[in-house]
Amino acid sequence: MSDKPTTAEEWERAGIREPFQSAEPSAPETEQPKTEDPRVNEYVCSCCERVIVTVDRDRGTTPFLMACKQFGGRCPGTTTSRFYKVDQDATRATWEWFKPKTSGERKKIGNDRALQEHVRLGGLLLRERL
Ligand SMILES: [Zn+2]
Repeated sequence: MSDKPTTAEEWERAGIREPFQSAEPSAPETEQPKTEDPRVNEYVCSCCERVIVTVDRDRGTTPFLMACKQFGGRCPGTTTSRFYKVDQDATRATWEWFKPKTSGERKKIGNDRALQEHVRLGGLLLRERL
C-alpha cells in the first residue's frame, strides 16, 4: 500500500485538491472558425425562384427573410437566407451588406424608425454592387 492519495477524499485529507476533476463547470467552448467567417450568402425567393447572392462587407447582422422586391424587382415574394452555407466565392455576389459609416451611407437610413433601430443594433444595410 502506498501512501499516495488515490481518491478525492484522500486528496482532500492530504490538503491537496483533486487535480483531475474540477467542481467548476468549465467555460463553454466557443467554436472558433479556423478560417475567416463565411461572408457570402444566398437568398432564395419562394415566388420567382430567383437566387440572390450577397456578401458581407462589414460585420453585423443580416435578416433571415427579405422581401424579394428589396433586391430591385417587383416580385411580391419573400426570399429566405441560406445561412452562408453556399459557395464562398465573393465574386458571385451582386449585392453587399454594409455598415453605414459615411454621412452619405447614413443618409440611406432616412427617417425609417425600424431601420434606424436595426442599424443601432448592429444591423447591416443592403446595396447593389457596382
Ligand atoms: Zn421573387
